[in-house]
Amino acid sequence: MNSYKDNLRKITPYVPGEQSKEKDIVKINANENPYPPSPKATAVLKDFNTESLRFYPNANATMLKKALAKYYGVGVENVFVGNGSDDVLALAFQSFFCSDKPIAYPDITYSFYPVWCDLFNIPYTTYPLDENFRINLEDYKAQNGGVVIPNPNAPTSLGEGEEFVRKLAEYNADSVVIIDEAYVDFGGYSSVQLTTEYPNLLVTGTFSKSRSLAGLRIGFAIGSSELISVLEAVKNSYNSYTVDSLSIAMGIASIEDDEYFKTTTGKVIATRTRVTDEMRALGFEVLDSQTNFILATHDGYSMKELFEYLKTKKVFIRYFSLPRIEKYVRITIGTDGEMDRFLAEVKNFLEGR
Ligand code: PMP
Repeated sequence: MNSYKDNLRKITPYVPGEQSKEKDIVKINANENPYPPSPKATAVLKDFNTESLRFYPNANATMLKKALAKYYGVGVENVFVGNGSDDVLALAFQSFFCSDKPIAYPDITYSFYPVWCDLFNIPYTTYPLDENFRINLEDYKAQNGGVVIPNPNAPTSLGEGEEFVRKLAEYNADSVVIIDEAYVDFGGYSSVQLTTEYPNLLVTGTFSKSRSLAGLRIGFAIGSSELISVLEAVKNSYNSYTVDSLSIAMGIASIEDDEYFKTTTGKVIATRTRVTDEMRALGFEVLDSQTNFILATHDGYSMKELFEYLKTKKVFIRYFSLPRIEKYVRITIGTDGEMDRFLAEVKNFLEGR
């Protein structure tokens, strides 16, 4: 017997870090920024004329694109904006990965990539990171339908430099290479400038991490005008208004407040250095992070148990029960106060075993 159920989409979705509404928690599980957005963005919200919400936003979000173009020193025709970088990446997968050949990305990486491949029927191959969780560039010489790599990578927190991205773009001149720079502002190398040299290179970014605006949903891409116009065409075949008027206005204010941006990213980096040192002193192995999170493990202790113990103490970190990283936990860098509470509970855990 046929049933409507036969035609329902079967898909395993991406699972984001838990969002808890409990009070007095330390929420360091979703790589959010512990500091508020720029006061200039807050001022825009306070003064926002809600009467203007009767109108659709500018479908091109031109003013936001102009602010990004100025900030990165590229043309406005080289900028695309979307509803968070997940939206931008999902559109980029649909726009650029139309080959029959599989796209390539590392075995340990952002777990949304395979979900989009499944959703959009894109074949893919993964290449294993080496034993130090580094990407082997030579793997990406093989024929492929495209490449996507976060730089720095997540959840490893490790970043690659200019030479790596140049070679990646050159090895793959026949396909589009996407560099997902969600975490780059915490000390990574940004390849935005290389997009003027490599027409097949697309760099994506987000306001969710370094600009403390995860709740607003603003992401962007920078690339050749050719790639950007294909992204625009695909977006306009799906949803013309992915960035709302309020996000456009607050996003511009955030971009224009570089001083605040530098202060808050600097604070996260300083706290990361301190927490890394203290955890190493407690016997943890902590990777050299270029992001707002760290990946850590400790011989002789189960990281799953640490994750569960911390949860009972209302300290939420992230544990992935996935091959190769099941011995690790991922900890987002919070305020110094939050990290003190985290470290105190970690010590309690180690002493109690
Ligand atoms: N890329 C990576 C590597 C991420 O970890 C995230 C955050 N989950 C994103 C992209 C998407 O972030 P957003 O949609 O908030 O811009």
